Amino acid sequence: RQKNQKFVYDFTEGNKDLKDLLGGKGANLAEMTNLGLPVPPGFTITTEACKVYLDTGAEPAALRDEVSAHLDALEQRMGKKLGQADDPLLVSVRSGAKFSMPGMMDTVLNIGLSDASVAGLAAQAGNERFAWDSYRRLVQMFGKTVLGVDGDLFEDALEEAKRAKGADSDLGLDAADLKQLVDDFKAIVAKETGRDFPQEPREQMDLAVRAVFDSWNTERAKLYRRQERIPGDLGTAVNICSMVFGNLGPDSGTGVAFTRDPASGHQGTYGDYLQNAQGEDVVAGIRNTVPLADLEGIDKTSYDALLAIMETLETHYRDLCDIEFTIERGKLWMLQTRVGKRTAAAAFRIATQLVDQGLITEAEALQRVNGAQLAQLMFPRFDDSATSAASGVRRIGWGIAASPGAAVGKAVFDSYTAVKWSRSGEKVILIRRETNPDDLNGMIAAEGILTSRGGKTSHAAVVARGMGKTCVCGAEELEVDTKRRRLTAPGGVVIEEGDLISIDGSSGKVYVGEVPVVPSPVVEYFEGRMHAGADEADELVQAVHRIMAYADRVRRLRVRANADNAEDASRARRFGAQGIGLCRTEHMFLGERRELVERLILADTDTEREEALGALLPLQKADFIELFEAMDGLPVTVRLLDPPLHEFLPDITELSVRVALAESRKDANENDLRLLQAVHKLHEQNPMLGLRGVRLGLVVPGLFAMQVRAIAEAAAHRRSVKGDPRAEVMIPLVGTVQELEIVREEADRVIAEVEAATGTELKLAIGTMIELPRAALTAGQIAEAAEFFSFGTNDLTQTVWGFSRDDVEASFFTAYLEKGIFGVSPFETIDRDGVGALVRSACQAGRATRPGLKLGVCGEHGGDPESVHFFHEVGLDYVSCSPFRIPVARLEAGRAAA
Ligand code: PEP
Ligand code: MG
Repeated sequence: RQKNQKFVYDFTEGNKDLKDLLGGKGANLAEMTNLGLPVPPGFTITTEACKVYLDTGAEPAALRDEVSAHLDALEQRMGKKLGQADDPLLVSVRSGAKFSMPGMMDTVLNIGLSDASVAGLAAQAGNERFAWDSYRRLVQMFGKTVLGVDGDLFEDALEEAKRAKGADSDLGLDAADLKQLVDDFKAIVAKETGRDFPQEPREQMDLAVRAVFDSWNTERAKLYRRQERIPGDLGTAVNICSMVFGNLGPDSGTGVAFTRDPASGHQGTYGDYLQNAQGEDVVAGIRNTVPLADLEGIDKTSYDALLAIMETLETHYRDLCDIEFTIERGKLWMLQTRVGKRTAAAAFRIATQLVDQGLITEAEALQRVNGAQLAQLMFPRFDDSATSAASGVRRIGWGIAASPGAAVGKAVFDSYTAVKWSRSGEKVILIRRETNPDDLNGMIAAEGILTSRGGKTSHAAVVARGMGKTCVCGAEELEVDTKRRRLTAPGGVVIEEGDLISIDGSSGKVYVGEVPVVPSPVVEYFEGRMHAGADEADELVQAVHRIMAYADRVRRLRVRANADNAEDASRARRFGAQGIGLCRTEHMFLGERRELVERLILADTDTEREEALGALLPLQKADFIELFEAMDGLPVTVRLLDPPLHEFLPDITELSVRVALAESRKDANENDLRLLQAVHKLHEQNPMLGLRGVRLGLVVPGLFAMQVRAIAEAAAHRRSVKGDPRAEVMIPLVGTVQELEIVREEADRVIAEVEAATGTELKLAIGTMIELPRAALTAGQIAEAAEFFSFGTNDLTQTVWGFSRDDVEASFFTAYLEKGIFGVSPFETIDRDGVGALVRSACQAGRATRPGLKLGVCGEHGGDPESVHFFHEVGLDYVSCSPFRIPVARLEAGRAAA
């Protein structure tokens, strides 16, 4: 660390861009101070000081003197000393990391009060009750958060005092009662900690600062950071701010405000105000707040001043801000501001509103929204208008909106039942007090998950989000009784196993009964079914429309769809797909056609095999004609058959049993016996690494040739009817260029034959998937024989990590996520350092061999927001993803380029 490093900044010295050093709160307090807004004077201890403390176990040597100097200056300015007996300066000590973090110590108010100064405060305020109440709060908050005393002990003592007095709120306690309570609280501290409550003001302050530092490493904070992927070494800043009091009487109060509605984005006065109260009263819900607009009637001067400040802040930050303020005897003070959180819908609206107001550019608007928000807006939602009393549907609870979506199903209370019922076709909602890894199968089987405990980072929330499953967690007023299989809601509503229940993962609301689900207006818009109107939904749709237009204008990546039938292809096209990046032909061999594949596999002679292929050819050709028609004029990458053949044969166990039974009855049929033989022959311990992909093409004569012929003939047909087919043939699971060369030779021959026969030049590109490490490592050689690469990041992740893609997410991934080994499954977001490094080098090597090589990705990552940015960075030409994710990919591709 550099010498003469400065560890303390006065509010006048910082600014909003110093969040790394001053934390979010400190940086914004400084910014407001320098804007000339009324911020109570104070200073910030930097995250650097915290880091030294965390590294060495002691505050940096220079810190004490620096704090003293800043405290002196503060005292000079305020004209009183910290804890001064006749007129004490009091301060708050508040944590403030770069990212706001639940699980960390938040605030200790009224530091500086002591047995000596409490009387001074009473005299200055002319209010004895106020002084003792403030002292009572200090001992309580300090005892709990700094000294680690069980908070319930204080609560119990407070309750006892109220009971003794016959008071129903703390307002019923007078100065003498509070004075007694302070004694009781101090006795609790002494008993629990073995030391007296510190009377020396500076010691109070120093201990509180250290407690903030220590709170960086609580288990809850660590867990939160791992899950949110916040680095563990940032440290927190500490803000020391002179106290202003909202609890000095009816001309005082405290509140929160938003510069616009964080739910809709509309401008107006949004917020709450609580008269004669200190900050924590609002949070604790001790008394009911009034809407911010009511402040106008209570204190017009402060109200007008607040509105003017809100305007200043919004123009200055060029975004929605949220604010904490206090009014002390008619004087307004700003205690905090930050760019405020908002719903997904508001994010889109606000971004376009700010463009219209000339506050931000279109490129900035793109950074104000993200793909996850867009995805959230695309979930179906409940039709709230249907939740009237008449329908029998009503809200019974309200938990944390942990994973969006609208889910309806029968209540079940354990995983076993969830799986059993869902297997028999029932839709179920899994209800647990909280979930653990044993609930995983039930969670997979359920439409949605409801828990009564735990927050946004609880097991249920994290796992449900990972699975894209609707989840409401921490619905605390619901009592879950898993033994008796019932849930009890306030008002005595009881839900038994099998009763219908609806949960809204976007709002956290829980309903008894079946709430009708309506499609998202945003999806209706993408589908082309949304028409102009002037309602709420339309405003959102307009905003989405505009943002998508910005994204499309600036993005470099093209976006294609993974689709293998005309219906999906058409939808994808409506959603903005610029072609198909992956048509999985195995999806064309399901249902009745499975038997034809079976015949192919069982064929003993060339004639039998050719017959089977001959039967498949027209079916494949018809599929491709439809697909090329739906994507007319746009590229369609058709991948030749990929999965192991046994997937097309009966299950080995079932067939064995059938044959054994038949044999015991002595009527085993010839075909079954042959089939069983084939199943045994093709059975693999590790089919994902077995006979699949290009290997099939090399060992099953005629299979790939038939598929290539179907593609070529379909393309020729489309030409003959004046269509514009742009087919590309893709070979899966190639590990070496030799495999590709052999398949390619055959394909070229077949295409030439079809061209000759139809008199059409087809210009079919032939390329390969890069989905094995060896392919990536030898990409330079493979590019000799490939006109394009498409990264199969599903298999590539599987083979690079050695993780079975079909098993691990349900087995040990939860443990890995909990331990923070990764913050998100590498099957969901590209592992930049491992899999990503191979993708990057393969791109370079491929293009070194063949400069015009077209590059794309068709693994699941193609539709994942963070991965899209990576693919933009490494220079791919396109990403390909499932139709529903196309808008998300378009948006993120635009954000990556803007
Ligand atoms: C892949 O492996 O990423 C891929 C797209 O192919 P599939 O998922 O069909 O194996
Ligand atoms: Mg694959």
